Amino acid sequence: MHAKEKSMHSGNCECKSIVYQFDGEPLTCYTCHCTDCQKSSGTAFGLAMVVNQKDVKLVKGKVSVNTLDYNGKKVQRHRCNHCGTSLWFTADNFPNLMAIKPGTFEDTSWFKPIAHLWTRSAQSWVCFDDSIPKYEKQPEYSELMELWENRKNA
Ligand SMILES: [Zn+2]
Ligand SMILES: [Zn+2]
Repeated sequence: MHAKEKSMHSGNCECKSIVYQFDGEPLTCYTCHCTDCQKSSGTAFGLAMVVNQKDVKLVKGKVSVNTLDYNGKKVQRHRCNHCGTSLWFTADNFPNLMAIKPGTFEDTSWFKPIAHLWTRSAQSWVCFDDSIPKYEKQPEYSELMELWENRKNA
């Protein structure tokens, strides 16, 4: 029997006016190559870590929220009010969950994505790690959570 290790992770934005703490277990973490993530990050892909909202505390700073429409689904982007760094997303159809942009953690060495999503729109030079699953489009979230859970228990 293992004791479940609970660890606290702090995050912040580029200008450091936001500080948040995550005290829990991620439910999954993935890399997304969809064109929305490419636009929203201004880079080649997005990283998302799905967690329970109750495990995240905003310690300092002000967050501003934009509501976006992703194919008829309402998604809220939460950003630093001052520098605009994207911190996390929430979605109307997942009321207790949020997707942290895990590049905002102070320490990014403790997690590794479990899958690549939307590989059909990945930029042509991206090299994939063949040891983790690739999905051409959007898989079910339950599948991504199962993959995460299985790796943890492996
Ligand atoms: Zn900021
Ligand atoms: Zn995406």
